Amino acid sequence: MNRENRRRQREGADRAQEAPFVCRNCGREVLPDGAGTAHRNHCPHCLCSVHLDDDPGDRAADCGGLMEPVAVWVRKNGEWAIIHRCRVCGKLSSNRVAADDNPLKLMSVALRPLANPPFPVERIEELAAQLDGGERAKCPLPK
Ligand SMILES: [Zn+2]
Ligand SMILES: [Zn+2]
Repeated sequence: MNRENRRRQREGADRAQEAPFVCRNCGREVLPDGAGTAHRNHCPHCLCSVHLDDDPGDRAADCGGLMEPVAVWVRKNGEWAIIHRCRVCGKLSSNRVAADDNPLKLMSVALRPLANPPFPVERIEELAAQLDGGERAKCPLPK
């Protein structure tokens, strides 16, 4: 593919973002309205995205892999953002949540590490007891 064709394809992709599309992961139709932003970059139902950008909005990536939501983090202003990870190349990217993102799906992504702790949950009690006996004594917080 020559450079000119590729540029045309990218411009096409840009326009396509404003049009309804079918999510490659869950198969539901995604409408441009309701996102609360001009750039909807993931499905509001399953939160999946597609690896099209190297930098946000540039459509420069040739990968095209499905990007799954793997985490959420809280920005300075309190707004949530989703970390997407590409299934094909492993690229990580951070994306703002949209106004109509499924709140239960967002919560389930946020809670996933807590639902699968890397140690037995019973140990938390043991660790807390250690804190009480040791480091907690140095801690200025009220007991
Ligand atoms: Zn979807
Ligand atoms: Zn990729």
